[in-house]
Amino acid sequence: MVGKLRSVTMSTLSAADVQGSANEKLDRFLTGTITVVPFLALIFVGVQAWNQSLHLSDLVVFGIMYFATGFGITIGFHRMLTHRSFETSRPVKALFAILGSAAIEGPVIAWVADHRKHHAFTDVEGDPHSPHVDHGHGLRGALKGLFHAHLGWLFVHDQRAKKDRYAKDLIDDPIIAWVNRTFLLWVALGLLAPFLLGWAIGGSVQLGLTGLLWGGAVRMLVLHHVTYSINSLCHVFGSRRYETDDESRNLGWLAPLAMGENFHNNHHAFPTSARHGLGKGQIDSAAAIIGLMERVGLVWDVKRPSAEQQARKRIPAA
Ligand SMILES: [Zn+2]
Ligand SMILES: [Zn+2]
Repeated sequence: MVGKLRSVTMSTLSAADVQGSANEKLDRFLTGTITVVPFLALIFVGVQAWNQSLHLSDLVVFGIMYFATGFGITIGFHRMLTHRSFETSRPVKALFAILGSAAIEGPVIAWVADHRKHHAFTDVEGDPHSPHVDHGHGLRGALKGLFHAHLGWLFVHDQRAKKDRYAKDLIDDPIIAWVNRTFLLWVALGLLAPFLLGWAIGGSVQLGLTGLLWGGAVRMLVLHHVTYSINSLCHVFGSRRYETDDESRNLGWLAPLAMGENFHNNHHAFPTSARHGLGKGQIDSAAAIIGLMERVGLVWDVKRPSAEQQARKRIPAA
């Protein structure tokens, strides 16, 4: 379906495609809170550093929570649900959808719908977060575009995907519909977990609280901006390995934090591939986890482009 929509002409772009907001003011307030609060947490992190009271347990909790919720987004929301790059059982599907929800990037169905619309209209009118559409020219236009693609688009509702058009399959999926309905529960558990982990690993309530700071707020800050960078930086900076009719790029240095999603030109060339790091040395930790799960039978029908399919789209090295 998504592939076909790419060829929709601009004249057929209509309100039927766009999901407005029932209460835009409230929406903006919530988005603003989620954006600003993690920055405030940096004040506490600064005080901690000043007092030299950063504990190993804080970093361990950060790492656990970052990768648990990050794989929820990359493996769950993105590769499993948006692009159906592998099949799995209901419990595994529920687990990844829950982990992704705990990343606090919005409920699963809206996330998937918007991302499918991005693929349907990449870098043309209709893309919810292109840095290249309607932002003007010159340095000012470039910076405006980057800001819109990174964060600004979260505050407007003029190009959001209509959920029943772009994610009907998920609305009809009882497990995903349930995870979507109970979004706030997973947000809360995603904040309770680092508190409990910090307490358990560090051995005191105080280290539970600093665990919440690192595994909750700092984790949100880093993961959100890494995810946003895929939409902003990876459509402007980096190299192109495959021919695509958009501005997608591979940005290598983001790989450790982006779990392979940074090989975004590869991804736009082969959207259903479970592996984004297709080139030599392109480390893709999300694909590695999917491969491990495939070996033990937790996932199956994993899609990866063949060498011939890759060769057909490969841009010859200059
Ligand atoms: Zn993209
Ligand atoms: Zn995608």
